[in-house]
Amino acid sequence: AADKDKTSSVAKIKVVVRKRPLNKKELAKNEEDIVETHSNALTVHETKLKVDLTEYVEKHEFVFDAVLNEEVSNDEVYHETVEPIVPIIFQRTKATCFAYGQTGSGKTYTMKPLPLKASRDILRLMNHTYRNQGFQLFFSFFEIYGGKLYDLLSDRKKLCMREDGKQQVCIVGLQEYRVSDVETIKELIEKGSATRSTGTTGANEESSRSHAILQLAIKRSIDGSDRMEGAEINKSLLALKECIRALDNDQGHIPFRGSKLTEVLRDSFVGNSRTVMISCISPSSGSCEHTLNTLRYADRVK
Ligand code: ADP
Repeated sequence: AADKDKTSSVAKIKVVVRKRPLNKKELAKNEEDIVETHSNALTVHETKLKVDLTEYVEKHEFVFDAVLNEEVSNDEVYHETVEPIVPIIFQRTKATCFAYGQTGSGKTYTMKPLPLKASRDILRLMNHTYRNQGFQLFFSFFEIYGGKLYDLLSDRKKLCMREDGKQQVCIVGLQEYRVSDVETIKELIEKGSATRSTGTTGANEESSRSHAILQLAIKRSIDGSDRMEGAEINKSLLALKECIRALDNDQGHIPFRGSKLTEVLRDSFVGNSRTVMISCISPSSGSCEHTLNTLRYADRVK
């Protein structure tokens, strides 16, 4: 990460882990909190069985750019993740934040407030620092489900994707709403969320196939656009990891075609763009295996 920081004060990819509190269900099952956090590191205490059936604990240690424990509020999550990358979208650069983790690990809880807080800050910058410079804010919201794209603000209209002349990914037919106040954005987020193929309480199978992508684009009357994107990711993680690794190693070929998700997000990973990945984890002993998988994935992206 030190190398990446030389060119800019903001790292290209920041990996943040958020641990949620134990919930009632886990407490009722007497599950224990096996995730110990200490500043930007954490230890998972995995209970294992020996052949003679006596228990022993194996410790797994991880270090990330930031670790947010169960006491950290959504405001602090915003401060640590999206807030630092908001100003860069005024420099013709893309900023992306996505969350992943097992169902019930806190992705929705973590991601939901972020676009609203980000748009509040974007509008502030537009109305103060960049006042009278012709910037306008546009909002769009779509879903990738079963490898197909659907507009969440136009009755799930099916969309298609293609490259424009400047080799930029372009989603044909996607509705973009010009927005100038937080209240309208709030209504659009609610409308789009209600249109998703699964609610927040959807079945595991359904929700792991669905990725929602919310875009805030600032456009200047005289030129193109810059975007800020948020996504929920599960299944296309492998393809995504391959892309991030290829980018980090300066490999010529980046395998964006690995999945619909990486194709859509392609522009977010090239050039000077910035990305924050939030790995959501449950503290409970019952989720130990999922938690270790999530952390190992994050560890490799780092
Ligand atoms: P996911 O979207 O990953 O399936 P959710 O965000 O729906 O998971 O979270 C599952 C449940 O845990 C929800 O009831 C949510 O309110 C609660 N929860 C998640 N993270 C936290 C947190 N950091 N603090 C308090 N409750 C949380």
